[in-house]
Amino acid sequence: MSIKENLLAIKKTIPDTVTLVAVSKTKPMSFIQEAFDEGQRVFGENRVQEMTEKWENLPKDIEWHMIGHLQRNKVKYMAEYVSLVHGVDSPRLLAEINKQAEKHNRTISCLLQVHIAEEDTKFGFNEEELLELVANEEFKAYKNVKIVGLMGMATFTDNDDQVRKEFSGLKSLYTKLSNNYTDFTTLSMGMSGDYKIAIEEGSNMVRIGSSIFGSRN
Ligand SMILES: *Cc1c(COP(=O)(O)O)cnc(C)c1O
Repeated sequence: MSIKENLLAIKKTIPDTVTLVAVSKTKPMSFIQEAFDEGQRVFGENRVQEMTEKWENLPKDIEWHMIGHLQRNKVKYMAEYVSLVHGVDSPRLLAEINKQAEKHNRTISCLLQVHIAEEDTKFGFNEEELLELVANEEFKAYKNVKIVGLMGMATFTDNDDQVRKEFSGLKSLYTKLSNNYTDFTTLSMGMSGDYKIAIEEGSNMVRIGSSIFGSRN
């Protein structure tokens, strides 16, 4: 199947209320252009240098999302243009995004990454750290970052019940925080293998790569 066909097939399975982030990491610009020509405007990348090169060369009305683990020293390279950072997993990273956004007179939207998977290799806050961060006065004073929601990755497993339980836990946390943080609009959960479960459990943003662009090496 072509990128166009894959994209149309995926879109049929996603309600209009759910934003599709087409994850184009490692894929050439021609692939992104093909999806763009079908109307796709939101793309996700996990390396700043690669994303910046693509941003420089592709249409300017693309919304670039940083979905991967982000090093603080790389923030400055994308502060001018990035539209959503999904993987904020430490207070120091948030401080750096605020600092770099200020230099460009921007407010950068961010999602706090929550550790929901069993594997300890995945980054993110646990519930306690998250509650501590959002209650922190220093964080509340940041003018150039806006926390618009949460992001999580489920365990990589065939056990759908477990994946569902992890997503549903993240949704509960999201709902709990939404009561106090009115900026909350976005719950980013679900990838090619598990996005249907994620949507059933309340996701409104899915990050899909291989089902659109083909598998990565
Ligand atoms: C690569 C990646 C995706 C997309 O994964 P697919 O299985 O190819 O859909 C989604 N989210 C994050 C954080 C990723 O790094």
